[in-house]
Amino acid sequence: MHIAFDNSFHATMEGFYAPAEATRPSAPRLLAFNDALAARLGIEVAGVGDDELARLFSGAQLPPGADPLALAYAGHQFGHFSPQLGDGRALLLGEVVAPDGVRFDIQLKGSGPTMFSRNGDGKAAIGPVLREYLVSEAMAAMGVPTTRSLAAVATGDRVQRERAHPGAVLTRVARSHIRVGTFQFFAAHFGAEHVIRLSDYAIGRHFPELAETANPHLALLERVIGLQCSLIAQWMGAGFIHGVMNTDNVAISGETIDYGPCAFMDRFAVNTVFSSIDAHGRYAYGRQPQITHWNMARFAEALLPAIHAVDPADVERAKELVAAVPDRFRSAWDETLRAKLGLGKEDPGDTELFDELFAELERHSVDFTGFFRALAMLLRGDRAPLDAILPDVGAMASWIAAWRARIEGEGGDFAERADAMDGVNPLYIPRNHLVEAALAAAEAGDMTPWRSLLDAVQHPFAARADWAEFAQPAPEDFGPYTTFC
Ligand code: AMP
Ligand code: MG
Ligand code: MG
Repeated sequence: MHIAFDNSFHATMEGFYAPAEATRPSAPRLLAFNDALAARLGIEVAGVGDDELARLFSGAQLPPGADPLALAYAGHQFGHFSPQLGDGRALLLGEVVAPDGVRFDIQLKGSGPTMFSRNGDGKAAIGPVLREYLVSEAMAAMGVPTTRSLAAVATGDRVQRERAHPGAVLTRVARSHIRVGTFQFFAAHFGAEHVIRLSDYAIGRHFPELAETANPHLALLERVIGLQCSLIAQWMGAGFIHGVMNTDNVAISGETIDYGPCAFMDRFAVNTVFSSIDAHGRYAYGRQPQITHWNMARFAEALLPAIHAVDPADVERAKELVAAVPDRFRSAWDETLRAKLGLGKEDPGDTELFDELFAELERHSVDFTGFFRALAMLLRGDRAPLDAILPDVGAMASWIAAWRARIEGEGGDFAERADAMDGVNPLYIPRNHLVEAALAAAEAGDMTPWRSLLDAVQHPFAARADWAEFAQPAPEDFGPYTTFC
């Protein structure tokens, strides 16, 4: 197998990383390999056996051309600044340029300690690895910007957590692994010159057109704010709760990164928290926009030395950009909701319609994912799916009437509208009870349930008879659900 590595970060960003080595796994065994993603990256794997893939994507054997390194970064964790985090259990193998010209990082996660591991073991257990693989591929299939998963390999070693688990390594693919925390690290320890170098690199790699603007660092701030507002709107449209929106987990590329205790909401409740470590609900479903505002303020602070170096007057402009985050989120969110509800036009009544929707979904504990698919069925003249998820026939009647009036006011063909809704509202998501069952089977050695669920969530929009169980709400006796990272 040949990977055409082209390692720009290694070549040009010395001082921003530390060389690192993978720990050799004792018995690497391939659990999953993403052929479609390999093809998208231009990695040729035809004729390559599972054993070789397992060695290459676990640290047992270094692919030729790889320059393994650990990235330095800092970050605010639950509001508190940690001046040094960094890749403590990940290793950047290198970068590839896909046939369409897009550059990607290929990273091993769980491949042993690095100089940034502090007290951690640098390893990952099979459950979290397969959870990240599944959820990241589901997000990609739904069209949500995200890191991807190329391979999962069992190491044959045990990883000690609350008990011993089989170990595994995930191969993660990202547009880059530069985070808000990367900027914070260099702003805190080195100052303007390093921040400018990092910003120039990020602009050159992700947004080359910004290099031509009057103040490229200010333009970077504005672009990242736009991408994050759009991303969080898409998360919330999918019922997704990231769980650890620390600034080291906010990617400059606008991709969802670092799938830990994340999960999708079943019944709607705006304060839903799944993560065992989020005791105060800082990263609850409905707080994600406010946290993004806060995180973007931290990004602006870290970028300020660079912004100021080009034009001191632009510092004021940076403050305005941060102050405008709630408005920018609101317009991204309104757009997401209009698409989910089959509405084509903005309307002065939108805010009221949306606020009332969430109040009603909460009042009746409605299955969030199922609701939007049921609304589309209603437009097709079939009320049965809605009746199945609402507590009684009268529930949400006045909201449904108001929504219908909006649809009728816009005119057009109902069936086409319903199809458009089904194209943005997933039917198959990684529902918590399905994920838990799939991970438990995988840990016991049976990958079949995980593979079937992966297949379904990779095709989230079109109904298939043999996947009917995957569209069902969580059983009554499931939950409350807690995730661990
Ligand atoms: P996270 O909570 O996954 O965003 O990680 C926060 C920091 O802890 C990062 O610097 C990680 O590299 C590090 N980290 C997380 N788990 C481990 C581990 N098992 N061993 C070493 N470092 C870790
Ligand atoms: Mg992280
Ligand atoms: Mg993590």
